[in-house]
Amino acid sequence: MAIPELKVVAMPTGWLTVDRSSLVYARNYGQQVRIPVWSTAIVGADQKIVVDTGIHDPGWVSSFVCPCEQAPEERLERALKEYVGWNADDVDIVINTHLHYDHSGGNTLFRNARFIVQYTEWEYAGRPLPTQATFYQEFLIGREPLAWFRWHFVHGVADIVPGVRVLPTPGHAPGHQSVVVNTAEGVTVITGDCANCMENIVDGVPVGIVHETAAELASLRRIRQIADIVIPGHDPDVAPGSAGLRLPAAARLPHVEG
Ligand SMILES: [Zn+2]
Repeated sequence: MAIPELKVVAMPTGWLTVDRSSLVYARNYGQQVRIPVWSTAIVGADQKIVVDTGIHDPGWVSSFVCPCEQAPEERLERALKEYVGWNADDVDIVINTHLHYDHSGGNTLFRNARFIVQYTEWEYAGRPLPTQATFYQEFLIGREPLAWFRWHFVHGVADIVPGVRVLPTPGHAPGHQSVVVNTAEGVTVITGDCANCMENIVDGVPVGIVHETAAELASLRRIRQIADIVIPGHDPDVAPGSAGLRLPAAARLPHVEG
């Protein structure tokens, strides 16, 4: 059977105002930046797939984490309709790169989906380091949880549908995963917060919020081995509705199978 041609579509789902040092480890302290929160649709498979679900409530985020804005058209159900013409109820699969508030906040919008997360991340979300507790707070107590049976736990690399694979990229969070999509333009990696922006990948510098620095460095190297195109989790250079950013040739490392 021929593998269907897949496309990825980046959708903006709100904005956070943060210190730049939280994006790129120990760089640019004291510079405030407004960064997008990306969700991504994977189009063309026989199932409709969304990677990360953004924020749930900008007021909650502004109260507990950092200043947050979300225009009405940036609500994920609206963005999905605008960029790929889907209703939330049509989505079959949601992949959460990790369970921070700005990557799983919209999960309950998807009433007919199953949710794919690394089991390690699910476990960690219930007992995070104190430095990360705020980021999981909404997931744990902020709203109606998803029914247990809707979660689909994976352990390591897993093929989700032909051409779509999840790849553990721990470091930002211990159970973090990225999503690797074979597209006509090349291998696209939806990095989640393994890379907040291209600078993390090109310079091999961790994100500013890290659970384990050595693991994060290894995950960034892995992305440089396999990616032609990337959608970093909060990169302002990704255009809304686009398929991401092409990795500069200088950032690539020799490909290793596995
Ligand atoms: Zn995160």
